[in-house]
Amino acid sequence: MYPLGIIDKNLKAVKSVINDTVAINQRLENSVKLVAVSKTKPRDVIEQALKAGHRLFGENRVQETQKKWLDLKKLYPDTQLHLIGPLQTNKAALAVSLFDVIETIDRFKLAKAVARYINDTDRRPRCFIQVNTGKEPQKAGVLPEETDEFINICRTNLNLPVEGLMCIPPTNEEPALHFGLLREIAERNNIKELSMGMSADYETAIQFGATYVRIGTAIFGSRTV
Ligand SMILES: *Cc1c(COP(=O)(O)O)cnc(C)c1O
Repeated sequence: MYPLGIIDKNLKAVKSVINDTVAINQRLENSVKLVAVSKTKPRDVIEQALKAGHRLFGENRVQETQKKWLDLKKLYPDTQLHLIGPLQTNKAALAVSLFDVIETIDRFKLAKAVARYINDTDRRPRCFIQVNTGKEPQKAGVLPEETDEFINICRTNLNLPVEGLMCIPPTNEEPALHFGLLREIAERNNIKELSMGMSADYETAIQFGATYVRIGTAIFGSRTV
């Protein structure tokens, strides 16, 4: 299923597109980081990316991450993990212990739980807020018109540093509109990190200021589960 060296090759290809797109758009070198989305992929496949030197990964489930990454993190301690899937409040403590960045803070109760575990432990994951830019009922995220206030509450009431915003545009809409909206919200709230862009649209996202692109399929192939 995975020819030898294919992950290495895919990683190099994606990184080369990122670098070219960064240059074309006159962005600073290394201003866009690649989050390799390894959700549903088994440990041996992930290890190929680690052996190829990649150290930044995205997962969408807390328990799956714990299972797959506990020993991998020991073998590759400089690995950084981003949580990119919905987080239940009762898994907030575990998420704080496992992840370096939590990209999916999207409601007060969750923000409060994460803030509490950050204050209670020596773990300091960076926190991003997920914005439901397309206002899709089935999708997680704060509504765009409520995001300014939510950021403010996180910062002032919870002492939770908000360092980034994340969005997943609706599949049937022009992603540029959503990336532009996310950037506007970030700019007026003095937020530096923008997590946007997936396999199908990361060049557009980079054009609109993405600092993290989250890419699964283009590196690991399609997902069957
Ligand atoms: C699965 C997933 C990705 C990766 O999507 P691809 O199209 O496979 O690159 C990115 N972001 C989130 C939030 C995801 O759940």
